[in-house]
Amino acid sequence: MPDYVLRTELDGKRLDCRLVFSRRKTLQLEVLPDMSVRMIAPEGTKPEVCMKMLNKRRDWVRTQLRYFSQFHPLTKPREYVSGETHLFLGRRLRLKVAKGSAKGVKVTRQHLTVCAGQTTSARLVEAELWQWYREQAADLFQERMLGCMVKLNIPKNDGPKSLIVRRYKSRWGSMSADGVLGLNLDLIRAPIECIDYVIIHELCHLRFPHHGPRFWDLLERVMPDWRKRKTKLERLTA
Ligand SMILES: [Zn+2]
Repeated sequence: MPDYVLRTELDGKRLDCRLVFSRRKTLQLEVLPDMSVRMIAPEGTKPEVCMKMLNKRRDWVRTQLRYFSQFHPLTKPREYVSGETHLFLGRRLRLKVAKGSAKGVKVTRQHLTVCAGQTTSARLVEAELWQWYREQAADLFQERMLGCMVKLNIPKNDGPKSLIVRRYKSRWGSMSADGVLGLNLDLIRAPIECIDYVIIHELCHLRFPHHGPRFWDLLERVMPDWRKRKTKLERLTA
């Protein structure tokens, strides 16, 4: 069953809670050390029921998030104001919030100019920027996937059944048993070599679903420098 995300707000900030269905009999809410929030629910539970439980336990979620945040000194909250640094394909660009009628995002050598209309509302600037990231990712990830398939000698018709781009909280990519490649939208902030590393890793799962020796052999052969790329990815987006 695909993941379902419960979206709500906590102290004015967006709170996403991943909903995972399992055979268990009761609802269980968890805040993980990476500060993601997850609810495990019996199969068939209505999302509204889960949402009610999430809202009822907001205070507890807040306390847990605060506790884990002390171990995350690098995760500075973004404010979406001019001057702040944002990443695009590994480049650190300075955000310029512009007011005007022409909504959209422009990239120059050093700047990322975002116009969300006649407003500088952080929420709207954030939405505009992420909409743009999403559009960039849709094209680029598809193109990189095709390139990576060539490297792995995967014929066009044997590639992933489809490509889904979404914001995962704690992983960069996934390959489902029926061949759906999932890529984290956040990868659009990383250099292309890191994006390729994630795609290659997931494509290797088409041959070997698990991380066994044969999986690692294949990865090593097609991308001998994958460790370097992985480290770079983790450092850059921390
Ligand atoms: Zn894997």
